[in-house]
Amino acid sequence: MPDPADGCPDPAARALVAAAFAAISSRYVLGRHQIGAAVLDGDGHIHLGLHLDAMVGRAAVCAEAGALSAARLATGAELVSVAAVRYPKPTEAPVARVVPPCGLCRELLLDHAPNLHAVVRNGTHAVLTPLAGLLPHKYVGTKWPAGLTPKP
Ligand SMILES: [Zn+2]
Repeated sequence: MPDPADGCPDPAARALVAAAFAAISSRYVLGRHQIGAAVLDGDGHIHLGLHLDAMVGRAAVCAEAGALSAARLATGAELVSVAAVRYPKPTEAPVARVVPPCGLCRELLLDHAPNLHAVVRNGTHAVLTPLAGLLPHKYVGTKWPAGLTPKP
């Protein structure tokens, strides 16, 4: 299967995509785990997450949430970027694809890492883009004081 990291012009994006691809490639199970994610922290460490599907759809957990949790468990360092890779089902063409964070993950990731960048596809290339640009008018609640990002 082609590595979706091939052709990433940015070394940081390439490393994240490769890590996410390796994670899901080693743990893919039809109907249970379809996406792997990788989060890069400011110290240069990569934290992995695995999508957890569920019998009740809304109980499923995205790979990005898993990677965010793993990162926060391991370090208080600023989080720099995230990438996710979707592994193909057996009935699909054998091509793993970089996928952008879903809307819920955009909210969650920005709550915990407001300067985070995400790897997205731009034509045939995977590139880093500010995550905030993918979520204009982000929800701002009253749970945390304005402008305060929770300290890890
Ligand atoms: Zn998600």
